[in-house]
Amino acid sequence: MKNVSILLLPGDGIGPEAIAELSRVIEWFSSNTDLAFDITTDDLGGAAYERYGTPLADTTLEVAKKVDAIVMGSVGGPQWDNVERHLRPEAGLLTLRKELDLFANLRPATCRAALASASSLKEDLVSGLDIMILRELTAGVYFGEPRGIETLPDGRRRGLDTQVYFEEEIERLLRVGFELAAKRNKKVHSVEKANVMESGVFWREVATRVGKDYPDIELEHMYADNCAMQLVRQPKQFDVIATDNLFGDILSDCAAMLTGSLGMLPSASLGSEIDGKRAALYEPVHGSAPDIAGQGLANPLATVLSFAMCLRYSFNRQSDADLLESAVDHVLAKNIRTTDIAAQGVKPVSTSDMGTALIEALNELSTQNA
Ligand code: NAD
Repeated sequence: MKNVSILLLPGDGIGPEAIAELSRVIEWFSSNTDLAFDITTDDLGGAAYERYGTPLADTTLEVAKKVDAIVMGSVGGPQWDNVERHLRPEAGLLTLRKELDLFANLRPATCRAALASASSLKEDLVSGLDIMILRELTAGVYFGEPRGIETLPDGRRRGLDTQVYFEEEIERLLRVGFELAAKRNKKVHSVEKANVMESGVFWREVATRVGKDYPDIELEHMYADNCAMQLVRQPKQFDVIATDNLFGDILSDCAAMLTGSLGMLPSASLGSEIDGKRAALYEPVHGSAPDIAGQGLANPLATVLSFAMCLRYSFNRQSDADLLESAVDHVLAKNIRTTDIAAQGVKPVSTSDMGTALIEALNELSTQNA
């Protein structure tokens, strides 16, 4: 028996609907494997604001720091648009990331076979696509000081942000990249703009030094603008793309669209390894989709696939992660789809029907494998 603890944070909008289907999946793994789950469920974002008066309660944060992994739905919604900035739903998520120092954001762009035709690119360019975008999440231009909007003595106004990276921030991100590549196709593209940015020159220098510790991994440097172009020209050339906060934000969205739908995209955010344990938050890439919340239209697969990442990276359960991903492929191959990914002429299923189909697929595949 392997005991694992999870904090489930359903959040707002479609978050609770997706997490409800994930809970059935977790229940399946609890009944059919030797994993024993210790689950705590709590509020985050708007739901936490309503209950605790803050988007992340201290008691929630305390639990978050203790568990093996956190799995989140999504946060946000128009009803909290006028709340003070530090009390908005997104502030809860940002504080959580900051407090746990979740610096490495993993966003896989995997083209699931049954959805290859849903990509905006030609099918042969994306079929079999499997890229891991690794984005630095806690530093760079989104956090650098000075920042602000100011009026100079001569009366001119300006807005400014600062791109700044310490050596150790680049190094720890690159190390995660090389370690990921070692378990994948052994190639890292380190992406910056060393041609025009000093921080880019520095990034490249650190990446080159760190790369020497991983002689089996091929390291290639690429400018961010070229990377954007290559992602739509020949995406299968990439394995792991390691980059800063700003470029990672943009490139991961670009890569996401290669694979079809927002409702299919999982992510993980990892912290440093301390005493053999790494803080980890798993969440779908999509937001709380207030336009479809509460209608049974949400695609729960991005959340379910985020849990597959949790099985792989936090619990070291490769075969269970593979099984869950195969179950997703199995369901899609049967043309069981929610509205966002429905094939033409095929009636879409509801969020909970998708959950039921997944459980059936897990039963079917595990019997076949037995
Ligand atoms: P969104 O991702 O919520 O929705 C964009 C579009 O995609 C909508 O039409 C939505 O219906 C659709 N969509 C998204 N996920 C889907 C799913 N699982 N199944 C089916 N359709 C899906 O982005 P948005 O509308 O820009 O933002 C809505 C709210 O979510 C905002 O408050 C925003 O701040 C928040 N948000 C939160 C996160 C997060 O929790 N990490 C991320 C992005 C946005």
